[in-house]
This record gives sequence, C-alpha cells and structure tokens, in this order.
Amino acid sequence: MTQRPIYLDGHATTPVDPRVMEAMIPFFTQQFGNAASSSHLYGWEAEAAVKQARERLAAAINASPEEIVFTSGATEANNLAIKGVAEAYFQRGRHIVTVQTEHNAVLDPCTYLASLGFEITVLPVQANGLVNLDDLEAVLRPDTILVSVMAANNEIGVLQPLSDIGQRCHDLGILFHSDAAQAIGKVPLDVQAMQVDLMSLTAHKVYGPKGIGALYVRRRNPRVTLAPQQHGGGHERGMRSGTLYTPQIVGFAKAVDLGLAEMTAETPRLKGLRDYLWARLQACDGLVMNGHPSQRLPGNLNLSVAGVDGQALHLGLRSLVAISSGSACSSASRQPSHVLKALGRSNDLAYATLRFGLGRFTTADEIDHVAEGVIATITALRSAAIDPIDQGHTVPEAIS
Ligand SMILES: *Cc1c(COP(=O)(O)O)cnc(C)c1O
Repeated sequence: MTQRPIYLDGHATTPVDPRVMEAMIPFFTQQFGNAASSSHLYGWEAEAAVKQARERLAAAINASPEEIVFTSGATEANNLAIKGVAEAYFQRGRHIVTVQTEHNAVLDPCTYLASLGFEITVLPVQANGLVNLDDLEAVLRPDTILVSVMAANNEIGVLQPLSDIGQRCHDLGILFHSDAAQAIGKVPLDVQAMQVDLMSLTAHKVYGPKGIGALYVRRRNPRVTLAPQQHGGGHERGMRSGTLYTPQIVGFAKAVDLGLAEMTAETPRLKGLRDYLWARLQACDGLVMNGHPSQRLPGNLNLSVAGVDGQALHLGLRSLVAISSGSACSSASRQPSHVLKALGRSNDLAYATLRFGLGRFTTADEIDHVAEGVIATITALRSAAIDPIDQGHTVPEAIS
C-alpha cells in the first residue's frame, strides 16, 4: 500500500479529535432523544446536553446562551445572517457592504440579494489582504444596513481588524456580521469587545464534526431581528426550524472547548512550525508570501511560486502532501482564486499557489518531509522548463 499524503489542508477541514468523538458517541445510541420532547427522560437528556453545549459555545465568544442559533455550518449561518437581515431591515435601507476576499458563502448571498434590488458594495483589500478602515468608512451611507467582514481568511489566513470595524459600524447604527469559520477555537473572539452583532461559526475546521455550526445573534445593544430562512417547528426561537442534531452539537462545543483550552500552547507551536516551513522553503528563490506576514492564523502559510506552471506544481506534489491551490471551490472550477486576484496576483502566480494549513496533528517531521519535497519539485520543474531534454525527473506535461 502506498503512503497517504501528509495532510496540510486544515483550512478545508480537519479530522475529528478523538476526545470530541468520545463525547459525541453516547448521543447517537443511548441519549438519542429529541431535545424538543419535553414529556420524558430521553428528551430531557438531549435538552440538557444541548443546553450545556449552548452555554459553553456562548461563553467561548463572550455571548449569552440565548444568542446562539444552531445551524448546519457556516454556510447556512452566513445565509441566515445576510438574507435574514436584508429581509428584516429592507425598509430601513437596502445597502450592504462586504469585501472582495470573503468566502463564497458570503459573496453569493450578497449577489443573490443584488438580484432582488439590494445594492452591494464589495470593498477591495490592501496588498496584504487587510481591509483599509478609511476605505470602509468612505462607503458607509445612511441606508447601509449591514457590513460583513470575515474574522480570518480561509486562503491567506489574514485576521481582519474586527474591533475597529465593529466600532465604526456601531457609531453609525449599522449591523456588523463576521464569518468566523476559520477563527473559532484558534484565535480569541469576543463579540462584546469586537462589537459584532452576528457571527458565523462552524465545527469542522476546529477538529469537530462536519454539518454543525451556529450563528451568534445579538439580543441587546442593539437587539437584532432576523427573518428566518427555514420555516417549520419553530426551533431556535423561530430563527431556524429543524430537530437539533444533539451529537454534533455536543461535539461542536467539545471541539471549541479544546481549542480554547489548548490555544496558549498550540499557537506558538503552530507559528513555530509554519515559520520553519517558510524559512526552509527559502532554499528556492522566487517565492511570494500571500497575506500579511504576521497578522494571520498561526497555522496558515500561503505562497506563490514564480516561474513554474501551477498545474504541474500541484500534480508534482499531490502524492506527497494534501494541500489546496486556492479555495476548494476555485480549484474545482480552475478559476484563479478571487482572493489572490484581490491581492493583485497575476493569473500565473495565482495558479502556482500553495495553501498550507498546519494543525493539531502536524509534526515537525512532516514539515521537514514536505519542505524537502516542495523544494525538489520546484527545482525539478524549473530545470525542466530551462532544458526539457535533459531532465532527471518526470514532470507532468504543463497544461496551459
Ligand atoms: C469553511 C468555511 C465556510 C463554510 O463553512 P461550512 O460549515 O463548511 O458550511 C464559510 N466561511 C469560511 C471562511 C470558511 O472557511
């Protein structure tokens, strides 16, 4: 059997931590009740587990439990936040502001709203991937109802200045939503200090299960109203109907708890491995780091390689290491990543981009192995490009 590639695609998803799995298991087979069944023990058990998970998740972002609405993940949370606000506040205004480097789960709901007559401003970013606060302030208007800016970018890992943005929005009475799918459990989040009104969360980027997430919805100063996007039994105070997925909810809270408990030790460890990888790769010249060098997730390294064909580079690496070229969505459609384009990268550089997402189970040995393989592959591709006859390696044919 051939060796499986080393997994460094932690921005796409992460494995479930065995401690999370252990916490979830009883809720599949023993405590399997419906949290909405109020007439018997099975329901009470599930309800108690959901209540505890809700309290822990709320505490993790300095919210209160009634402000947590469980969803199937961050995609649904983003849709609920953006479309839910648009539908509830359209009489106040129809202008929404977001940013070019947002996830498609934010950009596409905005595009949809534009088709209904909302006006969307999509702000550019600076060359380092960060929003310029003056640019943001300049586009805010009396009819702006919502600003949506992510906490941490899923490709380049940059951390946006949420507190500064939140303050400007609140000064003007504009709601502020943040997609924190990549940030929860990895960097500190505080919805009070950051003045965030709506925050999207997901479990599967932080060693929790797939298919569960939440939307934080502020209840005071100001109280946010949302139009539900899914109607039914009136679960989650009417904001999101559907039987609560108890095992996933328990796993989500456990995963976030572990992330917080281990953050102090894990952050410097990941930064150390990430910086070591970047330093070792300097054996090759012509590498360009994408995104702010330090204001980024500790496990993120995103770089473009000058002078090699992107497709050949990825084909050359895929048996060694599982990484992405850009976002998962754009690698399927073979469009250059919209995030890298927003940073001003050429199509060639955008295609020749490696996104490394180091995580809890990444070891120094793995980083050494990957660094060697990446250096060898880049070197081979470059020498092949100069002299295709005299090549010591098999290089996949470049596809233009
Ligand atoms: C992964 C991700 C999403 C989508 O989350 P799901 O829970 O998979 O729906 C949204 N936004 C960002 C920034 C992400 O990284």
